[in-house]
Amino acid sequence: MALEPEAIIDFMSRTTSAAARSWDVAALQHLATAQVPRDILGAHAWLTEADIRLTWASWFVDGLVDRRPFIHSNRLGYAHLYSEVQSRMRLLAPTLPIDELRRAAAAVTDFAWDDIDARRGRGRGAVTPQMRADLWFAAEPTPRCYLCGYEFSDHARDRLLGRSTAGQPEPSNLPLLVDFTRPRGLVPRDLMIEIDHVAPVANGGKTILDNLRLSCGWCNRVKAANTSLYTAPSGYSGEITSRELGIVTVPQPLWVLRLVATRGRCEEPSGCSAVLATSELFLAPRNPQGTITPTNAMVTCSNHDPWATARFVSRAKLSRR
Ligand SMILES: [Zn+2]
Ligand SMILES: [Zn+2]
Repeated sequence: MALEPEAIIDFMSRTTSAAARSWDVAALQHLATAQVPRDILGAHAWLTEADIRLTWASWFVDGLVDRRPFIHSNRLGYAHLYSEVQSRMRLLAPTLPIDELRRAAAAVTDFAWDDIDARRGRGRGAVTPQMRADLWFAAEPTPRCYLCGYEFSDHARDRLLGRSTAGQPEPSNLPLLVDFTRPRGLVPRDLMIEIDHVAPVANGGKTILDNLRLSCGWCNRVKAANTSLYTAPSGYSGEITSRELGIVTVPQPLWVLRLVATRGRCEEPSGCSAVLATSELFLAPRNPQGTITPTNAMVTCSNHDPWATARFVSRAKLSRR
C-alpha cells in the first residue's frame, strides 16, 4: 500500500481535534470538510462508502415525508406521495425551475415508493414446507449458509425437511470450541437451518422463493433487519483471552457478517478460488497487529486463515461473557 503521509497527517489532526471535542461545532465542521484518504478507507471502501450513502438517502427521504401513513393506507398512491414530496422540495428550493423540481421529486419519490410498495405486503404468507424443500434441493449437493458458507449437519437438514431425527446427535451437543469472531454454537439455534429473507420482512421483503435463502441460525439472528455496517448497535463487542493471541478484541458481529457475505470469496493475495457456495469463509485482520475493523479486514477460507486455530476458543469462555 502506497501511503500518502500528508493526507494522513491532515486527516488525523482533524479527527484528533474532533475526537477530543466531539460536542464542539468548530472542530466537527473542520473535520466534515476533510477528504478521507484511500489508505484510511481500506480495501473494502466500496462497502463502507456505499453503506453510509444508503443511510444518508434514507434520512433525506424520511426528512421530506413520513412513509408510514402511506404504508398503512392503500388509498394513498404514488401520485399523493409525489405531490407531497414536490411541495416539500418546493419549500426547500422556491426558485428552482419547475421541470428540474419535478425530476428531483420523481427521483426521491421512486426511492420512497419502492420501499412503501414492498412494505404494504409485509408479513404476507408463511414459508411453506414445499418452499423449504425447494430451497434445500436447489442447493444440493452441498447446501450451505448463503451468508457464511457453513455446511449444514444432517440433523439440521432433517429438522428443516420435517424428517425423523431419531438416532442422530442432539442439537444440544454444542461444539466445545467456537470461533470468537462468529460465535456460532453458543445456543442450539445457531446450528439449525433457518430461512432468511434476503430483503428483510421489516423492510418489505416478501415470502417468495426469489427472496429466500438457507442460512445458519447465527447469521440469520445477526442479520435480522440490518442492512448496513452502520446499523450495528455498537462497535466492538468486548475482549477475549486466547492461548495463541493473548488479549484480543472481539469485533462487532454485524461487521463480520456483512463483510463476509458481501465479499463472498477468499481474499488471499496470491489467489484462491474459495467462494461461499463451496467453502465456509471467515474474517481475519488484514494487518495481524491490528484488530478487526471494517477497514482492517480480510475475508479468508480456512486454508489461508491466519487465525485458523487461534480463532477457536472454548465455548465456556464465550458463554460466560
Ligand atoms: Zn451462516
Ligand atoms: Zn483461500
